[in-house]
Formats: sequence, structure tokens, C-alpha cells
Amino acid sequence: MLPDLRDDFPLLARTVRNGRSLVYLDSGATAQKPLVVLEAEDRFYREHNGAVARGAHILAEEATEAFESAREDVARLVGAPAEEIVWTPGATAALNLVANGMLQASLGAGGPAADRFRVGPGDRIVITEVEHHANLIPWQQLAARTGAELAWIPVDDAGVMVLDDLASVITGNTRVVAFTHASNVTGVVSDVATITARAREVGALTVLDGCQSVPHLPVNVADLGVDFLAFSGHKMLGPTGIGALWGRSDLLNALPPSQFGGSAITVVTMETTGFLDAPQRFEPGTQPVAQAVGMGAAARYLMGLGMDRVAEHEARIARILREGAAALPGVRLLGPVGGDGTAVLGLAAVVVEGVHAHDVGQVLDDRGITARVGHHCAQPFHRRLGLTGSTRASAHVYTTEDDAHAFIEALAGVREFFGVTV
Ligand code: PLP
Repeated sequence: MLPDLRDDFPLLARTVRNGRSLVYLDSGATAQKPLVVLEAEDRFYREHNGAVARGAHILAEEATEAFESAREDVARLVGAPAEEIVWTPGATAALNLVANGMLQASLGAGGPAADRFRVGPGDRIVITEVEHHANLIPWQQLAARTGAELAWIPVDDAGVMVLDDLASVITGNTRVVAFTHASNVTGVVSDVATITARAREVGALTVLDGCQSVPHLPVNVADLGVDFLAFSGHKMLGPTGIGALWGRSDLLNALPPSQFGGSAITVVTMETTGFLDAPQRFEPGTQPVAQAVGMGAAARYLMGLGMDRVAEHEARIARILREGAAALPGVRLLGPVGGDGTAVLGLAAVVVEGVHAHDVGQVLDDRGITARVGHHCAQPFHRRLGLTGSTRASAHVYTTEDDAHAFIEALAGVREFFGVTV
């Protein structure tokens, strides 16, 4: 069991809306930051700031050391070697890096080594109907620009991926399968083994969106068996503006870069450029160094808590949120309740019948409860369920059982507040 961690998170001490205690239940959108992360960034700027990998002076040396040791910490969190971690501005950028690299390959970049990244007419790109737009639009764009076909694993009426007929979706001409590790709307943890096994059968690459899993569950890239994993710093208690892409080094070294500039190169002439090996080939220009240092501190903080304990804590919060919401009359919980063998994150997205999600959010906000309202960047998923939006409460390591109960109590009063009786 996790201890009460609220004192580690200064922002949680503030009051909102006429002095009410803050009940922060929007961690799925962005997490609050512990002091160790704030201090790591602050210390970097106060004591070590310098240009990374570019100077012979002491500050350049110290900044490079801080930057690279943060990479090692983030790598350890997901069980990867440091050279397989590429810094990116976030998960969105990490997913775009792979899709755009495939576009570059499809335009002819990268030579024979990049053959496995090439897509074109007659090829298939597979995603799922539950994806966040960040893992949907880059693939839709890749398909549109190359003439490849976009297909998706469907979800059922409960919002769960249908894997019964996977061979009809991940067909022999599939080149890449991009899917989420855990849904930011239903919280359901995907059956990575089944999807990856089928992708491997047809020789397709696998790209996993770990934006919601890495902050909340033990994640080990060797066990997952995928080719790429994208995740964000700000959802795992780290700073904004930083994230990471893990990829197998043979793949990273063959994937053509899609952003170009200084520091990522070997020899540049007026006609040609040689690129460094990964990860530097994907890190042109001045990187968000202090943010990387903050993300490293966040990784150490999470590892210090123990990801098994983090997952167990959130499973307890999930039970309160999901069982509580499912039991309320006139409230529809999106996705299964969980706890019966279905792994779910500590979140609950709900629809209150007869009340718009924004109005639900307003009632919660009046009580100091911050939840997320809208489509949560998953429009096709909501549309599939006949919805335009929902209201989501999402937890993290600092979320208490009282926070979760406060959400359920407030939710219970929403229909009455608006005089909805049907
Ligand atoms: N994927 C999922 C499942 C998400 O929940 C999010 C953010 O909400 C993203 C990708 C995009 O992450 P970022 O905005 O940090 O790049």
C-alpha cells in the first residue's frame, strides 16, 4: 500500500472555489508534480545549465551528464537500455516521429535498411477504434500520403476492443499496428500479447501508446514484445514539454529521421549529411534539457514507490470510482467495471443521462472537484458509443479514497441538481 503522498505535491495544498479543498481528479490529462521534480529542474537551472553535447567547458559537461543520466533513469523505468530512449516533446511527438519516419522511408529515404518502414498502395496500416487522436491522426495522415489503407480493430458496445477476428483486420499486407496500451477513456489495459502475436505473424511493426500505462503500471519493454513505445513526462509526474520514444536499437538506427538540424549529425557537406546513431539522430537542435532532468527525477520517484504498489493503489481507487459510478441510477460508466480479470486504470469516464458533460463538470467544479469533460481526444470512440462526450475522473499516486468518494457523491447529486427525473 502507498503511504499518503499529498505532502510531496505542493499544488494539492491549495484551495479552490471559495476556499474548498482541491480534489484533483484530472491526472489522466496531466499529473501534478512532486517536490523532487520541481527541485531537480530548479537545481539544473541554478547550478548546471549549459549546452548539452556541444562544449568543452565544465557546465556543458555537467549539463550533458544530467541529461544522459535522466535518460538512464527513464530507460530503467521501462526496462530498456538508455541508448534505446529518444527524447521527444511528448507522446504525441514520439508517435509522430515513427509515423513521419515511415513517411520519409516511403518517400525513399534511408536506403535498403529502411525497407521495413516503407508503405504504399496495397499495404495496410492498423490502429484501433479506441485510440487517442495522438495515435490515430499520424497514421491516418501516413495512409493518406502514401496510398496505404487504414483499418482498425473495432470496439463493442461496451467500448472494449474486439479481438475475435483479428486475422481479418491484421491481414497479411499489414505493415504496422499502432495501438494503445491502456485507454484514456475506459481505462482498459489492452491485450498486448494477442495483438503483438498476430502482428508478428504477418511481419508488421508494432507501436504501443504507453501514455496512460507507463505512469500507472509496471511496464517492461522486453516483456511487451512490441517494437516501439511512446510516453509523456507530464502524465508520469514529470514536466511538460518532454516525453520519450523507446524503440529497438536496430529499428531506431534504420528509421529515417524526419526532423533535421544540429547535433544529430556526423559529417555535413553542402550536398549531404551523415546522421548519428540513435538516439541522437532523432534529437536535432537544443533539447528540453531541464525538462528531461525533471522527467528523470519523476522516473526515480515512481521507481522509489514501486510500480507494483502504484498499480495496486490505483486498482483500489478504480474500484471506488468504477463500482460507485456503475451503481448510480442514470449514470453510464464507459467500459467494463473491471476487477473481474479485466485490468483497468484508476479512472472512470461517465455519462449522466439527461445532463451535458460540461454541466456535470460545472457541478463538480463548484465542489472543488476537477474532472475532465468532453471527448478526451477520442472522438471516433465516443461516436461509436453514440456519444459526443463524457466526464472523466482519473487518479494518480496522490489520489486518496476520499477523493474518489467525493467524486461519486457529487455525481450522485447531479441529476437532481438539474431536475432530471427520466
Ligand atoms: N495517448 C493517450 C492515450 C493519451 O491519453 C494522451 C494524452 O492525453 C496522448 C497520447 C498524448 O499525450 P501528449 O499530449 O502528452 O503528447
